[in-house]
Amino acid sequence: MEIRNLVRSFGGRRVVDGVSLSIQPGQVTCLLGPSGCGKSTTLRIIAGVEMQDSGEIHVDGSLICDTRFRVPPERREIGLMFQDFALFPHLSVEGNVAYGLSGNRDEKRARVEEMLDRVRMSRFIDMFPHQLSGGEQQRIALARALAPRPRIMLMDEPFSGLDNRLRDGIRDETLAILKEEDTGVLLVTHEPEEAMRMADEIALMRNGRIVQQGAPYNVYTRPVDRASVAFFSDAN
Ligand code: ATP
Ligand code: MG
Repeated sequence: MEIRNLVRSFGGRRVVDGVSLSIQPGQVTCLLGPSGCGKSTTLRIIAGVEMQDSGEIHVDGSLICDTRFRVPPERREIGLMFQDFALFPHLSVEGNVAYGLSGNRDEKRARVEEMLDRVRMSRFIDMFPHQLSGGEQQRIALARALAPRPRIMLMDEPFSGLDNRLRDGIRDETLAILKEEDTGVLLVTHEPEEAMRMADEIALMRNGRIVQQGAPYNVYTRPVDRASVAFFSDAN
């Protein structure tokens, strides 16, 4: 996926100010930056639930959205895992994971079982979200997002609701599953530690712009300016 020069203003302020990114299959790109810098707005534009003022998004060479043309969100083959994008409380685990799937009943059931096996939640298939812990719900949310085989996963602070003890384990597990499925990922976080742990590539964002982009080690060890130094050290 190629994202070119996205711009979005609210009330005359450029919240997203010329963001360009490339997301490759099997690679995790982290959009890292302080609160309010425009990360979630960027993700919402890519998901198709927010409009940009200008800029384009292409997938495999074909245009999915510019200012005149928009593929609707449900046809973008994008998986979503947002902190506030919870499981459907009235659906069982099976119902949740089957939600975005097409095909007949047996095909859907087979894919649900495959995904639950992958996240090691098979025995929870008939339970409801309120019967699961936060970490278990997170695994089901991952299974649901990956079940329709999205080309790209957009993840907005997906681990921030989990306690510290659980978080590292779930991050590593999630990463392993995403790599197995060869899904391209854009992961939003304001925590340098999370980006360092999960990213193949970090795009450091500030005031709506990407100020530095590269391998985690390079971004961390060669900050481009004082503000980047402060961002990395404040967060520690
Ligand atoms: P955080 O790490 O706190 O989640 P963020 O980087 O995700 O921050 P955004 O949610 O993209 O930040 O918001 C960027 C700025 O745009 C904020 O100042 C926010 O108030 C503003 N903003 C976002 N959506 C709207 C909207 N619909 N109307 C007006 N302002 C908005
Ligand atoms: Mg946000």
